[in-house]
Amino acid sequence: MLRDWGSRDPDFVVMTARGRARLLEIAGGSEGYVCVPMQGSGTFAVEATIGTLLPWHGRLLVLVNGAYGKRMQRMAEIMGRAVVVLETPEDEAPSPAALDACLSEDSGITHVAAVHCETTSGILNPIMAIADVVRARGRRLIVDAMSSFGALSCDVEALGCDALVASSNKCLEGAPGLGFAIVRQDALAAAKGNAHSLSLDLQHQEQGFATNGQWRFTPPTHVLAALDQALAEHAAEGGVAGRGARYSENCRLLVTGMRALGFETLLPDRLQAPIIVTFRMPADPRFDFKAFYDRLVARGYVIYPGKLTVADSFRIGCIGRIGTPEIQGALAAIADAMAALGVASGAPGRATVGKMASFA
Ligand SMILES: *Cc1c(COP(=O)(O)O)cnc(C)c1O
Repeated sequence: MLRDWGSRDPDFVVMTARGRARLLEIAGGSEGYVCVPMQGSGTFAVEATIGTLLPWHGRLLVLVNGAYGKRMQRMAEIMGRAVVVLETPEDEAPSPAALDACLSEDSGITHVAAVHCETTSGILNPIMAIADVVRARGRRLIVDAMSSFGALSCDVEALGCDALVASSNKCLEGAPGLGFAIVRQDALAAAKGNAHSLSLDLQHQEQGFATNGQWRFTPPTHVLAALDQALAEHAAEGGVAGRGARYSENCRLLVTGMRALGFETLLPDRLQAPIIVTFRMPADPRFDFKAFYDRLVARGYVIYPGKLTVADSFRIGCIGRIGTPEIQGALAAIADAMAALGVASGAPGRATVGKMASFA
C-alpha cells in the first residue's frame, strides 16, 4: 500500500486482472462466470448487483433473518423494484420448504436473494438447499456471501447462482474499500442498460474491464494492492480450506472459553458459522456493557455490540489475522474485565428480550 500505483498504468492493469482471476477461482467459477469488482464497501457491490440483474418487470424475493437480508429488501424498495420478503427469526435458518411454497404460489418472483452467513447473529444459512429450490423452480439466485467468502466454500457453479457478492476486508483479510460480484456472464450481458445508476452499473463496469482492463472510474488503488497481497497469503494458508480451518478453531476455542465463564451463545452449535458469535447479555446487573467494552479495548481487543432485535446480546468475531494466542488473550481479558466489574458469571437471565446493547 506504500507504493503509489498509477490507475491506468500497465502494472496496475495486470494487478487488477490477477485479482479478478484469483477471486473467480476461489468462487469456483470457470468459463461461464466473471468477477466484477466495484469501488466502495460490500453494500455498494450488493446494490450494484441487485440493481443490474433484477429487471424492472421482475420481482425479488428476499430471505430475511437479520439486518443484511433487510438491507437488500430496502435497496430494492429504494430502487423502485418489486420486492417480497420471506422472514424468519434471527436465530432460525430460512426453510427451503417455505421458500418452495412461496415460489410455487407467486409466479411473478423472478429472483431470490439470500445471505450465506447472516452476520447479524452469525447464523449459517443453508445456501445449497436454498439454491436447489431456486434452481428447481427456474428462478435466479443472488447470494450475499460477504462474511463467508474465502473461509466457507460457496461454489458458484454448484449453487448455479446468477451472482455471489463479497468484499475485500472480511475473510480475505484485505483492507476495506472494495466489493466484488462473481456473476454469470449470460445474466450480465442480458442486463445491459438495466441498472438504475451510472456508478452502480455492474454490466457497464464489466464492459470497462473487457475493453481495456481498466476501471471505469478511479479505483481504490491501495486497497487493490493490499488485496493482491491478501490473496497471496490466502493461497499460502491453503485457500478456503486452510482459512476456514483456522477460523473454525478460533470459534471453537472462543465458544468453549466463554461457556466456561458462564456465557451462553444465542445459536445452537449446529447453526453457528465460524465467523462471528453472538452471546446473550449476562443477567448480573453489575455487567455494564460499555464498561466491559472499554476494558477490552484498553487491552487491545475490540468486540461488537449486538445487532439483534430478539435478544440483548453482544458479538465477538472469529475472523481476521488472529489465531489461538489472540483468542486465548481475549478470553483472559474478558475474565479480568468481569472480575473488575464484580461479575461472577456471564450467565444470561431469562428476561433479556427487547433490551439492546448500545453505546448510548
Ligand atoms: C459486512 C456485510 C455486508 C455489508 O458490508 P459493508 O462492507 O459494511 O458495506 C453485507 N452483508 C453481510 C452478510 C455482511 O456481513
